[in-house]
Parts: sequence; structure tokens; C-alpha cells
Amino acid sequence: MSEPAILLIEDEAQIRRLVRAALEGEGFRVLECGTLKDGLAQLHAETVQLLLLDLGLPDGDGIAFIRELRTQFPLPILVLSARSAEGEKIRALDAGADDYLTKPYSTGELLARVRAQLRRAPQEGATAETQFRFGDIGVDLAQRSVTRRGETVRLTPIEYRLLCAMLAEPGKVLTYRHLLSAVWGKAFVESNHYLRIYVSHLRQKLEDDPAQPKHFLTETGVGYRFQI
Ligand code: CA
Repeated sequence: MSEPAILLIEDEAQIRRLVRAALEGEGFRVLECGTLKDGLAQLHAETVQLLLLDLGLPDGDGIAFIRELRTQFPLPILVLSARSAEGEKIRALDAGADDYLTKPYSTGELLARVRAQLRRAPQEGATAETQFRFGDIGVDLAQRSVTRRGETVRLTPIEYRLLCAMLAEPGKVLTYRHLLSAVWGKAFVESNHYLRIYVSHLRQKLEDDPAQPKHFLTETGVGYRFQI
């Protein structure tokens, strides 16, 4: 079996060259191709640990491709796209992408996002985590307990459900729709203001400085991200 690689599907040769150089500089093995068809062939032939995907490709739409991949491959998908519209980001994330970078982005930002996705990629044979530590906070899902510097933090049932939904996918951008559906149910997917209120509750209770959150991050116009 080959060494795990990062696959880049991007039709602009110049961008492929830049991204490859940046990733190889960090010691990653990189595969690249310019079409969805070739990308799919690589995914079947190689061990791919992360997919970097452009949305505008000559042989199809990247968002439909993400949806198709999600049923076959559990790998993280980081979208690299010139499309900056929030609606496009949301469509890509709801289709199953894990994160999104809008061109132009810096090499440093790209590498940080790549590392974040590889950290959260599920390890083979790993069991579902039930204990989390971030900052001064400890969460034990089995005990349903949340502590801060060892003291119990009281969360309402909604706050606790929101916390669990965010902890379930650290590093991933979670859309409003995803979180509303997970916490309140499908009938509430348009109620973004609920999220604003309850995310602010979590920040008040769990962040050192709720005005400058380090863990419960806003993805403007798209949703939220939990960062350990
Ligand atoms: Ca393109």
C-alpha cells in the first residue's frame, strides 16, 4: 500500500504548482490532476488522506462531486475556490465539505487548514471520543459533565446539546442549518438567531474572553467552528 497522499483536483496548472510546492515543502506526498474524472480514478487507486478540491472544473461541478464522494470515501475535503459567495460556501459545506478557502489565500493559511484537517481525520480503529479538554474546560460526555478548572459548569439542555454538536466535529465548519437541525430539529433550520444566542451563552460560560473566543469561532455568514 502506498504512503498516504494529499490529492489536489484543480484545473489551473499554475495553482497546482504553487500548492504542490507548499505541501511538499512540509513533507507531504502530493497527487494532482485537472479533472473530476482523473480525481476519482486517483481516489480509487491511491491512499488519499485529504482532498483539496477546486469547485469550477472542466468536467463537472465540484459540489455534486462532494455529495457523490461522501457516500464512498470518509476522507476530509478542503474546498479551494474562487467563488467567494457565502451561498456557495454553505452549499459546499452542506454537501459534505469539511472546510473552505477562498482564492486568493496565503500559503501559511493553506498549510494551517491542511494540518487542522489531518489532525481531525479519524484514525483507523479509534473509538469515539467521550472526553475533551480545551483551555480550562473538561467535558465528559459519558458523565454528561462539564467542568472549568475542576468546578462544575451548569449548562441548560439546549446549551449542552449545542456543545455536543460542536465537539463532535472539531475543526470542521458547521453550517447554521447543520447545527440548528442537530440541536433543535429540522423544523428550525431557518432560525439562525437561536444559534447566535446560544453560542454566546457557551462563550460566556466556557471562554476566557467571550468577546475574543478561541474555541467557539464564528464563520461569518456560514456558521461556526469548534477549535480545541
Ligand atoms: Ca477552476
